[in-house]
Amino acid sequence: MVTLTLDKLREQVRGDVIAAADPGYDEARKVYNAMIDRRPEVVVRAVNAGDVMASVNFAREGRLPIAIRGGGHSVPGFGTCDGGVVVDLARMRGVHVDPKARTARAEGGATWGDFNAATNAFGLASTGGIVSTTGVGGLTLGGGIGYLARGFGLSLDNLISADVVTADGSFQVASEKENEDLFWAIRGGSSNFGVVTSFEFRVHPVKDIYGGVMFYELKHVGDILRFYRQFISDAPEELGAFPGFQIAPPLPFIPEKLHGETFIVIVGCWAGPVDQGEKAFKPFHDVAPVVAEMVGPMPYPALNSAFDGLYPHGLQHYWKANFVKELTDDAIAAHIEHGAKVPVVNSTVHIYPINGACHRVASDDTAFAYRDANFATVIAGMWPDPAQNQANIKWVRDYYDATAPLSEEGGYINFMAEDDQGRIKANYRGNYGRLVEVKRKYDPDNLFRVNQNIKP
Ligand SMILES: Cc1cc2nc3c(=O)[nH]c(=O)nc-3n(C[C@H](O)[C@H](O)[C@H](O)COP(=O)(O)OP(=O)(O)OC[C@H]3O[C@@H](n4cnc5c(N)ncnc54)[C@H](O)[C@@H]3O)c2cc1C
Repeated sequence: MVTLTLDKLREQVRGDVIAAADPGYDEARKVYNAMIDRRPEVVVRAVNAGDVMASVNFAREGRLPIAIRGGGHSVPGFGTCDGGVVVDLARMRGVHVDPKARTARAEGGATWGDFNAATNAFGLASTGGIVSTTGVGGLTLGGGIGYLARGFGLSLDNLISADVVTADGSFQVASEKENEDLFWAIRGGSSNFGVVTSFEFRVHPVKDIYGGVMFYELKHVGDILRFYRQFISDAPEELGAFPGFQIAPPLPFIPEKLHGETFIVIVGCWAGPVDQGEKAFKPFHDVAPVVAEMVGPMPYPALNSAFDGLYPHGLQHYWKANFVKELTDDAIAAHIEHGAKVPVVNSTVHIYPINGACHRVASDDTAFAYRDANFATVIAGMWPDPAQNQANIKWVRDYYDATAPLSEEGGYINFMAEDDQGRIKANYRGNYGRLVEVKRKYDPDNLFRVNQNIKP
């Protein structure tokens, strides 16, 4: 076997090959979470599947770990690594829409902003994340929870096929008809099976939506959470809405005297006929007085980017998560206690609904197992000042310790911290054994191990 040298890799790659001595290395090794400071041997900014194949071969032959970077949002920093190869897909962000077939094909490094801009032009959309800067890649391969999930399922439920470069450096198409085992495993198994260079999605008629955010005083939090758990269980599936704890940022729609105070908010998206949006949101206005709101008709990509400013690149991140079947009174009490202590304006707790279409897929149809959970909770610690790391991590852990016993054992893989590796089996429940089998077939040496790892 010929071991590829860095010079050989540079010859093979059309994109950029950035090693430690090269200009731009420090920029190239950075990821979204500023707490992560790793030094890969080389960062390859791929521009096509061939570059990805060359990078995978280079890593395998050199026995180096590979970190795959899509949008770079992984909180544990799985988009980079020490002493290995980073396959950065940020130059592969093209999105091609086929309006007749109602499909859209996104390259492996596209963000949801890229995707939504391309599909909205045709009056189409698919389930993506809440903000526009998250990668289609990581979000889809772990699940994909967003405004449209109750109506159209998780992002991975809308996947028709994927182009995958596997550990042997070969190019595979994974779909219901080809490499079905691989297709099953990548729908939830994250980056354990290869580098996805292109995703083909089903898209649905959604252009303008009615949506936004409503702020309520904390004294109403119990009423709101008790109302929400019931309401969302049988609300029309065109409605995606979740409660959260949020410090009021200094925005013009919020009265100045409220800036810096903590509120319970509801963020919602009505993807049915826009003229029915006001009616769909009425229950949120009836439950308690709204003290500030930014709600109305808008293009779907506008809602998808409305909160981007709260989550800029370069914050410190530490997150924890659980799936929840029933939001019990005890769980609500724990949320009231810990949600009120949200430490900074960037941090938040969201309770996302994952019922509706997400429940119409069986637990073993894809690797994403928690099809009977009604909510995915995320405790998202995000703060600007590294001097505050200890205090912010403590808030997340205390919150998690109080709510975990009232939740399912597993949590959503995409919201988990690096110290959650011990929960991986619980996240996949009965699907774990089959995931190990598929891992043994496609990546027996665990080349793709910079992730919530499924060991072969
Ligand atoms: C601000 C913010 C908001 C978020 N909002 C949501 C939300 O609304 N809904 C939701 O479900 N999740 C959300 N998440 C979580 C998100 O799904 C995960 O962080 C996800 O892993 C990010 O994917 P990425 O491509 O941006 O990140 P990356 O760090 O690039 O990748 C994350 C993981 O996926 C792998 N990966 C990425 N692209 C590929 C690819 N093309 N092929 C193979 N492996 C790949 C990486 O190797 C890594 O293991 C959010 C995260 C952040 C930070």
